[in-house]
Amino acid sequence: MQGSCHCGNVIIDVSTKVNLATSCNCSLCHRYGAIWGYFEMAQVNVAHRSASVQSYKHGDEYLDFHHCTRCGCITHYTPTEKAESTRMAVNLRMFDKTVLQGVEVRYFDGADTWEFKAQSADRYFI
Ligand SMILES: [Zn+2]
Repeated sequence: MQGSCHCGNVIIDVSTKVNLATSCNCSLCHRYGAIWGYFEMAQVNVAHRSASVQSYKHGDEYLDFHHCTRCGCITHYTPTEKAESTRMAVNLRMFDKTVLQGVEVRYFDGADTWEFKAQSADRYFI
């Protein structure tokens, strides 16, 4: 499946279907409003056209959060070298709405307990 940022500069191709995603309320994800689908880096191809992609790290700096420098959409995150991981996440909001309709969204309390919470999906408009 293929998604893109709002302006079409960043194109994301994912080779596998995703069934499960996470909405997190940590200080960063809360602001981004992203819904993360998780993949191995080999399953995802990210390309960009004329405008660049910029990244942001915070806290322990295990993750690079990437956004389009033209439209500002948060498109994906990748592990930094420090993380020694091959797992990455793609913001499923960059895909057609029908992709999210087939996905179970779990709510992760990254702000406090670091546990998944049972929470009615209608509290969020997906
Ligand atoms: Zn863009």
